[in-house]
Amino acid sequence: MRVLVAGGAGYIGSVVTAGLLAAGHEVTVLDDLSTGHADAVPSGATLAAVSLHDSAPVLADVRPEAVLHFAAKSLVGVSQQRPHEYWDTNVGGSLALLEAMRAADCRRIVFSSTAATYGEPESVPIREDAPTRPTNTYGASKLAVDHMLTSYAVAHGFAAVSLRYFNVAGAAYGLGERHATETHLIPIALEVAAGKREALTIYGEDYPTPDGTCIRDYVHVEDLADAHLLALSAPAEGEHRIYNLGNGTGFSVQEVVDAAREVTGHPVPVVVGARRAGDPAQLVASSDLIRSDLGWAPRHTDLAGIVRDAWDVARTRA
Ligand code: UDP
Repeated sequence: MRVLVAGGAGYIGSVVTAGLLAAGHEVTVLDDLSTGHADAVPSGATLAAVSLHDSAPVLADVRPEAVLHFAAKSLVGVSQQRPHEYWDTNVGGSLALLEAMRAADCRRIVFSSTAATYGEPESVPIREDAPTRPTNTYGASKLAVDHMLTSYAVAHGFAAVSLRYFNVAGAAYGLGERHATETHLIPIALEVAAGKREALTIYGEDYPTPDGTCIRDYVHVEDLADAHLLALSAPAEGEHRIYNLGNGTGFSVQEVVDAAREVTGHPVPVVVGARRAGDPAQLVASSDLIRSDLGWAPRHTDLAGIVRDAWDVARTRA
């Protein structure tokens, strides 16, 4: 299939691009390189370095049969301080992309949605029919695009899938997380292990969980890539499907720190700090729907394995 990957120079987009190429697809990456890296774009793909807002000429030229849309701003804290950037890129940019697709007669799309669309869960594991009450602008902007896709499916016959990621981690095809501003737990723990940071701050150990630290659902980026390949051909025209993507098991912050110590063989000093605003105690996905509908089954569910893959790539880069 001729595929356009918006955001293919980022962490998840570049891994999925590599997966698409390995499966024999023809890939053009559209990325403004604001947070992505040109050298993360796998060599078999063509890079168009433009923003979502300027995507129409690229789609008119490439004439993709499907779009995978990863391009977004994704820092929760910044979304609270500078919301206009999130509405402009995540919502305005996505609207421009959908209109560019319509003009190029392309109606098939897989979109990177997020667990942040649910907000504070009433119960875990979280199913797709849970209420969507995002607690930050990032989650609200992603939810707006989910709504956009539903209306484009109804009005314009789009075949759309929103994949709601939980905590994506690990590495594949030699590609791992590489953010200028790193906020995620596993990469920070590995930076501490590598001696690039002095200590990791645990954001609260007084949560109502067995060890008092927050529980999250870490899903391996390679399993995520599998899900995108399955989702690509799944929906019929006029259909918008929404699937959660998680490992099925939650791990606590303390368990992640322990795994980082075990995998790296280095001490990972921690200090216990205050809770981070807006962090729910537990976020764990029910991924039953994508398992039963598409036959997706995560292959890398072991926490130490996920951390090891991230460590191997981070070390190679260093
Ligand atoms: N966390 C932490 N210290 C850090 C970064 C994260 O204790 O330096 C915790 C955070 O409070 C959350 C979990 O690790 O409970 C995962 O956070 P991350 O930012 O990786 O992902 P999120 O769940 O916020 O999407």
